[in-house]
Amino acid sequence: MPRRVLITGGAGFIGSHTALVLLEQGYELVVLDNFDNSSPEALERVKELTGSNSLDFVEGDVRDLDAVNRAFDCGGPIDGVIHFAGLKAVGESVADPLRYWDVNLNGSRVLAAAMEQHQCRTLVFSSTSTVYGEPEVFPLHEQMPTAPVHPYAQTKCAVEQMLGALCRSRDWRVACLRYFNPVGAHPSGRIGEDPLGIPNNLFPFITQVASGRRDKLRIFGQDYPTHDGTGIRDYLHVMDLAEAHSVTLGHLFQATAPHQLTLNIGTGYGLSVLDVVHGFEQATGLPIAYEFVERRPGDVPKLEGCPQKAKDILGWSAQRDLAQMCRDGWAWQQANPMGYRTNP
Ligand code: NAD
Ligand code: UDP
Repeated sequence: MPRRVLITGGAGFIGSHTALVLLEQGYELVVLDNFDNSSPEALERVKELTGSNSLDFVEGDVRDLDAVNRAFDCGGPIDGVIHFAGLKAVGESVADPLRYWDVNLNGSRVLAAAMEQHQCRTLVFSSTSTVYGEPEVFPLHEQMPTAPVHPYAQTKCAVEQMLGALCRSRDWRVACLRYFNPVGAHPSGRIGEDPLGIPNNLFPFITQVASGRRDKLRIFGQDYPTHDGTGIRDYLHVMDLAEAHSVTLGHLFQATAPHQLTLNIGTGYGLSVLDVVHGFEQATGLPIAYEFVERRPGDVPKLEGCPQKAKDILGWSAQRDLAQMCRDGWAWQQANPMGYRTNP
Protein backbone atom coordinates (compact mmCIF):
# COMPACT_ATOMS: atom_id res chain seq x y z
CA MET A 1 0.00 0.00 0.00
CA PRO A 2 1.41 3.43 -0.89
CA ARG A 3 1.85 5.81 2.02
CA ARG A 4 -0.66 8.66 2.17
CA VAL A 5 0.69 12.10 3.06
CA LEU A 6 -1.10 15.34 3.90
CA ILE A 7 0.66 18.44 2.56
CA THR A 8 -0.56 21.72 3.99
CA GLY A 9 0.32 24.66 1.73
CA GLY A 10 0.98 22.18 -1.07
CA ALA A 11 0.00 24.63 -3.83
CA GLY A 12 2.77 27.05 -2.81
CA PHE A 13 6.32 27.39 -4.12
CA ILE A 14 8.09 24.72 -2.06
CA GLY A 15 4.93 22.64 -1.53
CA SER A 16 4.19 22.19 -5.25
CA HIS A 17 7.75 21.03 -6.00
CA THR A 18 7.65 18.66 -3.02
CA ALA A 19 4.27 17.29 -4.11
CA LEU A 20 5.74 16.56 -7.53
CA VAL A 21 8.72 14.68 -6.06
CA LEU A 22 6.49 12.64 -3.72
CA LEU A 23 4.03 11.72 -6.49
CA GLU A 24 6.94 10.57 -8.64
CA GLN A 25 7.98 8.33 -5.76
CA GLY A 26 4.56 6.71 -5.57
CA TYR A 27 3.07 8.48 -2.55
CA GLU A 28 -0.64 9.31 -2.37
CA LEU A 29 -1.21 12.94 -1.45
CA VAL A 30 -3.88 15.19 0.03
CA VAL A 31 -3.19 18.90 -0.25
CA LEU A 32 -4.84 21.40 2.10
CA ASP A 33 -4.45 25.01 0.95
CA ASN A 34 -6.53 28.19 1.14
CA PHE A 35 -4.71 29.81 -1.85
CA ASP A 36 -3.77 32.80 0.26
CA ASN A 37 -0.52 32.97 -1.71
CA SER A 38 -0.92 30.42 -4.50
CA SER A 39 -3.08 29.14 -7.32
CA PRO A 40 -4.89 25.82 -7.93
CA GLU A 41 -3.21 25.87 -11.33
CA ALA A 42 0.05 24.82 -9.64
CA LEU A 43 -1.57 21.53 -8.56
CA GLU A 44 -3.01 20.96 -12.04
CA ARG A 45 0.47 21.31 -13.47
CA VAL A 46 1.93 18.96 -10.85
CA LYS A 47 -0.62 16.35 -11.95
CA GLU A 48 0.16 17.00 -15.61
CA LEU A 49 3.94 16.71 -15.06
CA THR A 50 3.72 13.49 -13.07
CA GLY A 51 0.81 11.94 -14.95
CA SER A 52 -0.49 10.97 -11.51
CA ASN A 53 -4.02 11.22 -10.18
CA SER A 54 -3.03 10.30 -6.62
CA LEU A 55 -3.52 13.87 -5.49
CA ASP A 56 -6.65 14.89 -3.59
CA PHE A 57 -7.29 18.47 -2.75
CA VAL A 58 -9.17 20.20 0.06
CA GLU A 59 -9.58 23.97 -0.08
CA GLY A 60 -9.45 25.29 3.46
CA ASP A 61 -7.58 27.10 6.19
CA VAL A 62 -5.15 25.23 8.39
CA ARG A 63 -6.50 27.19 11.40
CA ASP A 64 -9.94 25.67 10.79
CA LEU A 65 -10.15 22.29 12.57
CA ASP A 66 -13.11 21.21 10.42
CA ALA A 67 -11.14 21.87 7.24
CA VAL A 68 -8.12 19.95 8.55
CA ASN A 69 -10.40 17.07 9.58
CA ARG A 70 -11.90 17.07 6.09
CA ALA A 71 -8.40 16.60 4.70
CA PHE A 72 -7.81 13.70 7.12
CA ASP A 73 -11.12 12.13 6.18
CA CYS A 74 -10.82 12.35 2.40
CA GLY A 75 -9.56 8.94 1.27
CA GLY A 76 -7.57 6.51 3.41
CA PRO A 77 -5.71 7.13 6.66
CA ILE A 78 -2.89 9.66 6.60
CA ASP A 79 0.55 8.27 7.48
CA GLY A 80 2.43 11.56 7.75
CA VAL A 81 2.14 15.33 7.27
CA ILE A 82 4.36 17.98 5.70
CA HIS A 83 3.38 21.38 7.03
CA PHE A 84 4.19 24.24 4.63
CA ALA A 85 1.06 26.38 5.12
CA GLY A 86 2.16 29.66 6.62
CA LEU A 87 3.25 33.22 6.04
CA LYS A 88 6.85 34.10 5.25
CA ALA A 89 7.41 37.83 4.68
CA VAL A 90 9.63 39.35 7.35
CA GLY A 91 8.52 42.97 6.83
CA GLU A 92 4.84 42.02 6.84
CA SER A 93 5.38 40.11 10.10
CA VAL A 94 6.74 43.27 11.72
CA ALA A 95 3.78 45.31 10.44
CA ASP A 96 1.13 42.72 11.37
CA PRO A 97 2.53 40.40 14.06
CA LEU A 98 -0.85 39.09 15.24
CA ARG A 99 -1.59 37.69 11.80
CA TYR A 100 1.75 35.86 11.83
CA TRP A 101 1.18 34.40 15.30
CA ASP A 102 -2.30 33.35 14.26
CA VAL A 103 -1.48 31.69 10.93
CA ASN A 104 1.94 30.27 11.79
CA LEU A 105 1.52 29.26 15.42
CA ASN A 106 -2.22 28.76 15.76
CA GLY A 107 -2.35 27.00 12.37
CA SER A 108 0.35 24.58 13.55
CA ARG A 109 -1.46 24.01 16.84
CA VAL A 110 -4.76 23.19 15.11
CA LEU A 111 -2.96 20.87 12.71
CA ALA A 112 -1.19 19.08 15.57
CA ALA A 113 -4.50 18.69 17.43
CA ALA A 114 -6.09 17.10 14.34
CA MET A 115 -3.07 14.84 13.97
CA GLU A 116 -3.49 13.71 17.59
CA GLN A 117 -7.18 13.01 16.99
CA HIS A 118 -6.26 10.86 13.99
CA GLN A 119 -3.29 9.25 15.73
CA CYS A 120 -0.99 10.50 13.00
CA ARG A 121 2.22 11.63 14.71
CA THR A 122 4.76 11.94 11.90
CA LEU A 123 5.43 15.51 10.80
CA VAL A 124 7.92 17.49 8.71
CA PHE A 125 7.77 21.19 9.57
CA SER A 126 8.99 24.14 7.46
CA SER A 127 11.26 26.13 9.71
CA THR A 128 13.75 28.77 8.65
CA SER A 129 17.39 29.76 8.99
CA THR A 130 16.19 33.12 10.33
CA VAL A 131 15.63 31.44 13.73
CA TYR A 132 19.38 32.00 14.26
CA GLY A 133 18.79 35.76 14.36
CA GLU A 134 21.87 37.92 13.81
CA PRO A 135 24.71 35.45 14.32
CA GLU A 136 28.37 36.42 14.31
CA VAL A 137 29.93 32.96 14.15
CA PHE A 138 29.71 30.85 10.99
CA PRO A 139 28.82 28.34 9.74
CA LEU A 140 25.61 27.93 11.71
CA HIS A 141 25.04 24.60 13.43
CA GLU A 142 21.71 23.29 14.64
CA GLN A 143 22.74 23.18 18.29
CA MET A 144 23.58 26.90 18.33
CA PRO A 145 21.11 29.00 20.31
CA THR A 146 18.18 30.45 18.42
CA ALA A 147 17.70 34.21 18.74
CA PRO A 148 14.89 35.28 16.38
CA VAL A 149 14.68 39.03 15.86
CA HIS A 150 11.33 39.44 14.07
CA PRO A 151 7.85 37.98 14.50
CA TYR A 152 8.18 35.68 11.46
CA ALA A 153 11.20 33.88 12.93
CA GLN A 154 9.72 34.04 16.44
CA THR A 155 6.61 32.18 15.30
CA LYS A 156 8.74 29.48 13.64
CA CYS A 157 10.84 29.12 16.80
CA ALA A 158 7.69 28.82 18.91
CA VAL A 159 6.34 26.05 16.66
CA GLU A 160 9.66 24.18 16.91
CA GLN A 161 9.30 24.38 20.70
CA MET A 162 5.65 23.27 20.65
CA LEU A 163 6.61 20.27 18.51
CA GLY A 164 9.51 19.48 20.84
CA ALA A 165 7.08 19.33 23.75
CA LEU A 166 4.83 16.94 21.77
CA CYS A 167 7.79 14.66 21.07
CA ARG A 168 8.60 14.56 24.77
CA SER A 169 5.01 13.88 25.84
CA ARG A 170 3.81 11.42 23.18
CA ASP A 171 4.96 9.10 20.44
CA TRP A 172 5.70 11.79 17.80
CA ARG A 173 8.33 11.78 15.08
CA VAL A 174 9.05 15.34 13.96
CA ALA A 175 11.60 16.95 11.67
CA CYS A 176 12.06 20.71 11.71
CA LEU A 177 13.84 21.70 8.52
CA ARG A 178 15.56 25.07 8.75
CA TYR A 179 15.66 26.14 5.13
CA PHE A 180 18.11 28.70 3.84
CA ASN A 181 17.10 30.50 0.59
CA PRO A 182 15.24 28.28 -1.91
CA VAL A 183 15.27 29.58 -5.51
CA GLY A 184 14.88 28.29 -9.06
CA ALA A 185 12.10 26.10 -10.38
CA HIS A 186 11.34 22.69 -11.79
CA PRO A 187 13.42 22.30 -15.00
CA SER A 188 10.26 21.93 -17.11
CA GLY A 189 9.43 25.61 -16.49
CA ARG A 190 5.84 24.54 -15.70
CA ILE A 191 5.93 25.21 -11.93
CA GLY A 192 7.88 27.85 -10.05
CA GLU A 193 7.73 30.75 -7.62
CA ASP A 194 4.80 33.11 -8.23
CA PRO A 195 4.99 36.08 -5.87
CA LEU A 196 1.98 38.39 -5.77
CA GLY A 197 2.86 41.99 -6.69
CA ILE A 198 6.38 43.31 -6.34
CA PRO A 199 8.67 40.48 -5.17
CA ASN A 200 10.25 40.86 -1.73
CA ASN A 201 12.93 38.33 -2.50
CA LEU A 202 16.07 38.74 -4.55
CA PHE A 203 15.73 35.89 -7.00
CA PRO A 204 12.23 36.53 -8.40
CA PHE A 205 13.14 40.21 -8.60
CA ILE A 206 16.14 39.37 -10.78
CA THR A 207 14.11 37.14 -13.11
CA GLN A 208 11.49 39.89 -13.45
CA VAL A 209 14.20 42.43 -14.36
CA ALA A 210 15.51 39.96 -16.94
CA SER A 211 12.04 39.62 -18.47
CA GLY A 212 11.52 43.40 -18.57
CA ARG A 213 8.69 43.37 -16.02
CA ARG A 214 10.85 45.52 -13.64
CA ASP A 215 13.37 48.08 -14.83
CA LYS A 216 16.20 47.43 -12.38
CA LEU A 217 17.18 45.61 -9.23
CA ARG A 218 17.70 47.69 -6.13
CA ILE A 219 20.54 46.17 -4.12
CA PHE A 220 19.99 46.82 -0.44
CA GLY A 221 23.34 47.99 0.96
CA GLN A 222 26.89 47.95 -0.39
CA ASP A 223 28.76 48.41 2.89
CA TYR A 224 28.26 45.08 4.61
CA PRO A 225 31.40 43.41 5.96
CA THR A 226 31.45 40.87 3.10
CA HIS A 227 33.84 40.35 0.14
CA ASP A 228 31.96 42.83 -2.10
CA GLY A 229 29.89 44.75 0.45
CA THR A 230 26.55 43.07 -0.40
CA GLY A 231 24.62 40.64 1.81
CA ILE A 232 25.45 36.95 1.80
CA ARG A 233 22.89 34.11 1.82
CA ASP A 234 22.92 30.38 1.14
CA TYR A 235 20.76 29.85 -1.99
CA LEU A 236 19.58 26.35 -2.78
CA HIS A 237 17.64 24.89 -5.70
CA VAL A 238 13.99 24.30 -4.81
CA MET A 239 14.23 20.77 -6.30
CA ASP A 240 17.04 19.96 -3.85
CA LEU A 241 14.81 21.25 -1.06
CA ALA A 242 11.86 19.19 -2.33
CA GLU A 243 14.05 16.08 -2.35
CA ALA A 244 15.18 16.87 1.19
CA HIS A 245 11.52 16.59 2.26
CA SER A 246 11.07 13.21 0.67
CA VAL A 247 14.19 11.73 2.29
CA THR A 248 13.24 13.28 5.64
CA LEU A 249 9.79 11.73 5.45
CA GLY A 250 11.29 8.35 4.55
CA HIS A 251 13.62 8.67 7.53
CA LEU A 252 10.75 9.47 9.93
CA PHE A 253 8.69 6.55 8.61
CA GLN A 254 11.58 4.24 9.43
CA ALA A 255 12.22 5.70 12.88
CA THR A 256 11.68 3.23 15.67
CA ALA A 257 11.60 5.74 18.50
CA PRO A 258 9.89 9.10 18.94
CA HIS A 259 12.18 12.00 18.35
CA GLN A 260 12.58 15.53 17.07
CA LEU A 261 15.16 16.11 14.40
CA THR A 262 16.31 19.65 13.59
CA LEU A 263 18.27 20.09 10.38
CA ASN A 264 19.81 22.92 8.38
CA ILE A 265 18.85 22.56 4.73
CA GLY A 266 21.17 24.53 2.50
CA THR A 267 24.26 24.12 0.32
CA GLY A 268 26.70 25.36 2.96
CA TYR A 269 28.03 28.00 0.51
CA GLY A 270 27.10 31.63 0.89
CA LEU A 271 26.77 33.93 -2.12
CA SER A 272 26.56 37.71 -2.14
CA VAL A 273 23.84 39.62 -3.99
CA LEU A 274 26.40 40.56 -6.66
CA ASP A 275 27.52 36.92 -6.96
CA VAL A 276 23.91 35.98 -7.72
CA VAL A 277 23.44 38.85 -10.19
CA HIS A 278 26.62 37.97 -12.08
CA GLY A 279 25.87 34.23 -11.88
CA PHE A 280 22.46 34.88 -13.43
CA GLU A 281 24.00 37.01 -16.19
CA GLN A 282 26.50 34.28 -17.01
CA ALA A 283 23.99 31.43 -16.93
CA THR A 284 21.41 33.19 -19.11
CA GLY A 285 23.43 35.71 -21.13
CA LEU A 286 21.07 38.47 -19.99
CA PRO A 287 22.22 41.74 -18.41
CA ILE A 288 20.66 42.70 -15.06
CA ALA A 289 20.46 46.45 -14.44
CA TYR A 290 20.93 47.38 -10.81
CA GLU A 291 21.54 50.28 -8.47
CA PHE A 292 22.68 50.38 -4.87
CA VAL A 293 20.24 51.74 -2.30
CA GLU A 294 20.11 51.89 1.50
CA ARG A 295 20.24 48.71 3.55
CA ARG A 296 16.85 47.08 4.07
CA PRO A 297 15.83 47.35 7.73
CA GLY A 298 16.14 44.02 9.53
CA ASP A 299 18.57 42.46 7.02
CA VAL A 300 21.59 40.65 8.45
CA PRO A 301 24.97 40.77 6.64
CA LYS A 302 25.28 37.02 6.30
CA LEU A 303 23.48 33.70 6.85
CA GLU A 304 25.42 30.57 6.05
CA GLY A 305 24.72 27.19 7.59
CA CYS A 306 26.47 23.87 7.88
CA PRO A 307 24.36 21.14 6.20
CA GLN A 308 26.57 18.26 7.44
CA LYS A 309 24.00 16.91 9.91
CA ALA A 310 21.46 16.39 7.08
CA LYS A 311 24.15 14.56 5.11
CA ASP A 312 25.10 12.35 8.08
CA ILE A 313 21.54 11.47 9.08
CA LEU A 314 19.66 11.50 5.78
CA GLY A 315 22.42 11.10 3.22
CA TRP A 316 21.04 14.29 1.63
CA SER A 317 23.11 17.12 0.19
CA ALA A 318 22.29 19.79 -2.38
CA GLN A 319 23.22 18.65 -5.91
CA ARG A 320 22.40 21.64 -8.11
CA ASP A 321 24.60 24.71 -8.56
CA LEU A 322 23.85 28.40 -9.01
CA ALA A 323 23.93 28.12 -12.82
CA GLN A 324 21.15 25.54 -12.72
CA MET A 325 19.13 27.60 -10.23
CA CYS A 326 19.38 30.52 -12.67
CA ARG A 327 18.61 28.55 -15.83
CA ASP A 328 15.57 26.83 -14.28
CA GLY A 329 14.28 29.99 -12.60
CA TRP A 330 14.63 31.86 -15.89
CA ALA A 331 12.88 29.11 -17.89
CA TRP A 332 9.89 29.38 -15.51
CA GLN A 333 9.83 33.19 -15.71
CA GLN A 334 10.11 33.22 -19.49
CA ALA A 335 7.31 30.72 -20.00
CA ASN A 336 5.08 32.35 -17.35
CA PRO A 337 5.80 36.08 -17.31
CA MET A 338 2.77 36.73 -15.08
CA GLY A 339 3.11 33.55 -13.05
CA TYR A 340 0.10 31.24 -13.03
CA ARG A 341 -2.40 34.04 -13.60
CA THR A 342 -2.32 34.41 -17.37
CA ASN A 343 -1.71 30.78 -18.18
CA PRO A 344 -4.78 28.89 -17.07
P1 NAD B 1 4.26 29.98 -0.32
O1 NAD B 1 3.57 31.21 0.16
O2 NAD B 1 4.54 29.84 -1.78
O3 NAD B 1 3.46 28.69 0.17
C1 NAD B 1 2.69 28.66 1.35
C2 NAD B 1 1.37 28.02 1.00
O4 NAD B 1 0.55 27.99 2.18
C3 NAD B 1 0.59 28.80 -0.06
O5 NAD B 1 0.06 27.90 -1.02
C4 NAD B 1 -0.54 29.48 0.73
O6 NAD B 1 -1.70 29.68 -0.07
C5 NAD B 1 -0.74 28.47 1.84
N1 NAD B 1 -1.32 29.04 3.05
C6 NAD B 1 -0.98 30.20 3.67
N2 NAD B 1 -1.75 30.38 4.76
C7 NAD B 1 -2.59 29.32 4.83
C8 NAD B 1 -3.61 28.94 5.72
N3 NAD B 1 -3.94 29.71 6.78
N4 NAD B 1 -4.28 27.79 5.50
C9 NAD B 1 -3.98 27.02 4.43
N5 NAD B 1 -3.02 27.33 3.54
C10 NAD B 1 -2.32 28.46 3.74
O7 NAD B 1 5.62 29.86 0.52
P2 NAD B 1 6.83 28.85 0.34
O8 NAD B 1 8.00 29.63 -0.08
O9 NAD B 1 6.42 27.67 -0.43
O10 NAD B 1 7.05 28.48 1.88
C11 NAD B 1 6.49 27.31 2.45
C12 NAD B 1 6.84 27.28 3.93
O11 NAD B 1 8.26 27.31 4.07
C13 NAD B 1 6.29 28.46 4.73
O12 NAD B 1 5.85 27.98 5.98
C14 NAD B 1 7.51 29.36 4.90
O13 NAD B 1 7.47 30.11 6.09
C15 NAD B 1 8.65 28.34 4.95
N6 NAD B 1 9.93 28.89 4.51
C16 NAD B 1 10.04 29.46 3.27
C17 NAD B 1 11.27 29.99 2.87
C18 NAD B 1 11.42 30.65 1.53
O14 NAD B 1 12.39 31.38 1.34
N7 NAD B 1 10.53 30.44 0.57
C19 NAD B 1 12.39 29.91 3.72
C20 NAD B 1 12.24 29.29 4.96
C21 NAD B 1 11.00 28.78 5.35
N1 UDP C 1 17.99 41.87 -1.76
C1 UDP C 1 18.28 42.96 -2.53
N2 UDP C 1 17.29 43.48 -3.33
C2 UDP C 1 16.04 42.95 -3.38
C3 UDP C 1 15.75 41.82 -2.57
C4 UDP C 1 16.76 41.32 -1.76
O1 UDP C 1 19.40 43.46 -2.52
O2 UDP C 1 15.17 43.46 -4.11
C5 UDP C 1 19.06 41.28 -0.90
C6 UDP C 1 18.75 41.28 0.58
O3 UDP C 1 19.19 42.49 1.16
C7 UDP C 1 19.54 40.05 1.06
C8 UDP C 1 19.50 39.11 -0.13
O4 UDP C 1 19.19 39.92 -1.27
O5 UDP C 1 20.91 40.40 1.29
C9 UDP C 1 18.45 38.02 0.00
O6 UDP C 1 17.19 38.63 0.29
P1 UDP C 1 15.83 37.80 0.25
O7 UDP C 1 14.73 38.75 0.63
O8 UDP C 1 15.72 37.09 -1.04
O9 UDP C 1 16.05 36.68 1.36
P2 UDP C 1 16.22 36.85 2.96
O10 UDP C 1 16.58 38.24 3.28
O11 UDP C 1 14.89 36.45 3.50
O12 UDP C 1 17.30 35.89 3.31
